[in-house]
Amino acid sequence: MAEKHFKYVILGGGVAAGYAAREFVKLGLNPGELAIISKESVAPYERPALSKGYLFPQGAARLPGFHVCVGSGGERLLPEWYAEKGIELMLGTEIVKADLASKTLTSAADVIIKYDILIIATGSTVIRLSDFGVQGADANNIFYLREIDDADKLVAAIHAKKDGKAVIVGGGYIGLELGAALKINNLDVTMVYPEPWCMPRLFTAGIAAFYEGYYANKGIKIIKGTVAVGFDSDANGDVTAVRLKDGRVLEADIVVVGVGGRPLITLFKGQVEEEKGGIKTDGFFKTSIPDVYAVGDVATFPLKLYNEQRRVEHVDHARKSAEQAVKAIKAAEEGKPIEEYDYLPYFYSRSFDLSWQFYGDNVGDTILFGDNDPTSAKPKFGTYWIKEGKVVGVFLESGSPEENKSIAKVAKLQPPVQDPEQLEKEGLAFASKI
Ligand code: FAD
Repeated sequence: MAEKHFKYVILGGGVAAGYAAREFVKLGLNPGELAIISKESVAPYERPALSKGYLFPQGAARLPGFHVCVGSGGERLLPEWYAEKGIELMLGTEIVKADLASKTLTSAADVIIKYDILIIATGSTVIRLSDFGVQGADANNIFYLREIDDADKLVAAIHAKKDGKAVIVGGGYIGLELGAALKINNLDVTMVYPEPWCMPRLFTAGIAAFYEGYYANKGIKIIKGTVAVGFDSDANGDVTAVRLKDGRVLEADIVVVGVGGRPLITLFKGQVEEEKGGIKTDGFFKTSIPDVYAVGDVATFPLKLYNEQRRVEHVDHARKSAEQAVKAIKAAEEGKPIEEYDYLPYFYSRSFDLSWQFYGDNVGDTILFGDNDPTSAKPKFGTYWIKEGKVVGVFLESGSPEENKSIAKVAKLQPPVQDPEQLEKEGLAFASKI
C-alpha cells in the first residue's frame, strides 16, 4: 500500500482549497509541504461559473479560464502554478476513509495519506430526487449540477436535444440560473417549484415578482405550488415527461434538478463535533479535534456580527474562510495572535442581463424601493431588511460597483431607521450617503 506524508493536507479541491493554497504561498510555504486531494480531475476552479458562463451557447467559459482565484479579481492558479510552488495536486483521488485520531486518510485506490494539519474542504453534494424515492428519477437526461463533469454532461445534452423541451425542478438560485441558461440555448423552458415564489429563503414576494415576471417575458413558463412526483422515459431510458403532483404532465427532453445541497461530512461522523448540519468550528475554523480545520460549505462557524453559529454555502465565504484558516495555522506556528473571523454574509447571482447582490441578514420588516417593473427597459430596485429599528440586510438588482459597495457598508454598519416611509422614498440614496 502506497503511503505519503505531508505537513498540510487540504481534503477537497474546490473553491476553498484554491484560495487556501494561495494564502499558504503568500505566508510562506516550502515545496513538498502541502497536498490538495480532490475527487475532481481538474485543479481548483470558480464553481459558480458552471451555472453561468460555462453554459453560454457562444463564447462559453472553459478551463483554464476560470481556475481560482479569478472570481475575486486575483490571478488564475493554473496547474503549473501548484507544480512551481511544490504543492502536490492529487486529482481524481477520492478519500473513502478519514481517521482523525491517527491523522490518516485512505483513498479509494488504497493510498494512505498522513498529515500533521488537515483542512477539511469537501463542500456540498446535491440532494437527488432518487433520495426521496421519486419514481423514474434515474432516467437519462435528468441532470444535477455540482462539478465540472456534471456541467459537461449537461452541455452535451443541450447540443443533442437542440430546440427541445427542458423542465427545471426547483426555484432556488440554481433553478433560476439554469432556467435562463437553457432558454438562452433556445430550449423551451418550464420551471416547477412548490413554494409560492422563487428563492423564498432570500427573496420577498416583491423581489420574486420581478424575476418571475422577467422570466415570463423571456418565454419561460413557471408552475408554482406543486412538485415532480415521477418521470416517464422511452425504450432507451431517456426521460420523456415529468409528472406533477397536481396531475399535470410536462413533456421533457432535458430535466435539471436544483433542490438544494447538503454538506459532505459523512467521512468524519462521530469523530468531530457537529452543529446545524456542519462541522462546528471556532472563529479560526478550528474544529473540536486538534490540528483539524474545516472551511467553506462544511463549516458551522461563529458569525460574530449576529452572535450565532451559522453555515454559509456561498463562494465568498468559501474564499474568506479558507484564507482565515491558513492565517490561523501560520499564526499559531509563529505564536502570534490573529483577529477572529468577522464575516458579513454576501450572496449574488446572475442570469440573462440581470445581476443582484445581497449583504447582511434577511430578517425583520422589509422595504422595497426603486423600479421593479419587469417590463422596464432598465429595471433597478432593492430591498432593505429592518430589525429592531436598524437596517440589517440590503438587496440590490443591477447595482453599479459603487452602489454595491454602499449597500455592503449599510449591512455592516446597521444604521438606525427613524422613518420607514422616508427610507422607501430615499431608496438607494439612503445607502449611498452612508
Ligand atoms: P466545493 O467548491 O464544492 O469543493 C469541494 C471539493 O471537494 C470538490 O472538488 C469535491 O469533489 C471534493 N471532495 C468532496 N469529497 C471528497 C472526497 N471524499 N475525496 C476527495 N475529494 C472530495 N455561490 C455564490 O455565492 N454565488 C453563486 O453564484 C454560486 N453559484 C454556484 C453555482 C453552482 C453550479 C454551484 C454548484 C455552486 C454555486 N455557488 C455559488 C456555491 C459555491 O460554489 C460554493 O459555496 C463553494 O464552491 C463552496 O466551496 P468549498 O470549497 O467549500 O466546496
